[in-house]
Amino acid sequence: MALIVQKYGGSSVSDAEAMKRVAKRVAETHEAGHQVVVVVSAMGDTTDDLLDTAAEITKNAPEREMDILLSAGERISMALLSMAVNELGVPATAYTGAQAGIRTNSNFGRAQIIGMVPERIARAIKDGQVAIVAGFQGVSKDEDVTTLGRGGSDTTAVALAAALNADVCEIYTDVDGLFSADPRIVPKAHRLRTLTQEETLEMAAHGAKILHLRAVEFARRYGVPLHVRSSFSEKNGTWISDTPANPQLKGMVPAAALANPEEEHMEQPVISGIAHDRSQDKITVTNLPNTPGQAARIFEICAEVGANVDMIVQNVPVSDPTKANITFTLPEGDAKKTLAALEAHRAEIQFDDLRYNPNIGKLSLIGAGMRTNPGVSARLFKALSEANINMDLISTSEIRISVVTKLDDLDRAVQAVHTAFGLDATESEAVVYGGTGR
Ligand code: ASP
Ligand code: MG
Repeated sequence: MALIVQKYGGSSVSDAEAMKRVAKRVAETHEAGHQVVVVVSAMGDTTDDLLDTAAEITKNAPEREMDILLSAGERISMALLSMAVNELGVPATAYTGAQAGIRTNSNFGRAQIIGMVPERIARAIKDGQVAIVAGFQGVSKDEDVTTLGRGGSDTTAVALAAALNADVCEIYTDVDGLFSADPRIVPKAHRLRTLTQEETLEMAAHGAKILHLRAVEFARRYGVPLHVRSSFSEKNGTWISDTPANPQLKGMVPAAALANPEEEHMEQPVISGIAHDRSQDKITVTNLPNTPGQAARIFEICAEVGANVDMIVQNVPVSDPTKANITFTLPEGDAKKTLAALEAHRAEIQFDDLRYNPNIGKLSLIGAGMRTNPGVSARLFKALSEANINMDLISTSEIRISVVTKLDDLDRAVQAVHTAFGLDATESEAVVYGGTGR
């Protein structure tokens, strides 16, 4: 017997038929002798629809009421799915985030989990019930409903899996797992059979949309094995773990995940995948005095306005070493307030100019294999130059190289690099079953 947490995204529970299909899968897992906890997202586009309706009523919705509103989507799902599972003769009980013991701080709209006390869930599964939990929400110290940020149901699932010490957290979506690049850009992207948690973290942090970043962070911190797969097919998806799977899960995880990790590692390619991100902007602060403390001031100001700075490059012109230019990238939503805040400190920081470019794209090459393989950057840069694509900024970690290009060049860059690293599959494998990618 294994303890399995299954998370179903909105496209997997988009209507009554879909609910029944999911209920069947849940019931089968339970009947195979496993303990099952299910986390559900809101049906289809419910969350977007609720946001639109609120926007028709007010431009200044109180954050607290917004969270009550948005949490309703997942509650509808949990109740309906519980009914559907009970209908199949398997006892199931639905729980809100609060009832499932998900305690958060009071940051409405982006609350962080500060404690997990899933006692009712533990009791329910011990009694042979399937526990069905509304994703994306928790409760604050003041007993207000909070939500965890868009895509947050993944985090609910992983947090529950960690707290309950589950054998696996299955993330069900409408594609067959994680791919070596976005199949919409690279039709010959191949499905990744396994990925390390570190690689997944880099993927999620640099634009791969399939998993909530905080869910991956949680999985890594608490060692929760993840299996990302489609609820529309029986195919194995992508296994994300640093340790081989519990053999009890035979048949439920890709064979590769059960294999000897050493062997698996030997066949691991240098590069696992390519993530891309269109949602960043670039700001350059020119000609500031090249003295200690100037960069600190700039990024203090960015931090004060809550801008999430990503890449940073400083250059000092050889012709005038008393000056420096600092360029950085940040999410497009943070650009306006950052520019305004820097402008307000122009006299203090003594820069010449603020340059702003919203038309950039970022490509990130990710792979644990690059740690021991020299020449990866050379190959990347060569692939880009052969495609006649200019690089603007470059940043690296031990297992990632990111480059910024013109936004218009980004798709071509991803394609060229995918081919250059031998990642193209012989035939296209990616099927989007549901349509929303959630
Ligand atoms: N329903 C929420 C959203 O659309 C949470 C989720 O699906 O994970 O963002
Ligand atoms: Mg999602």
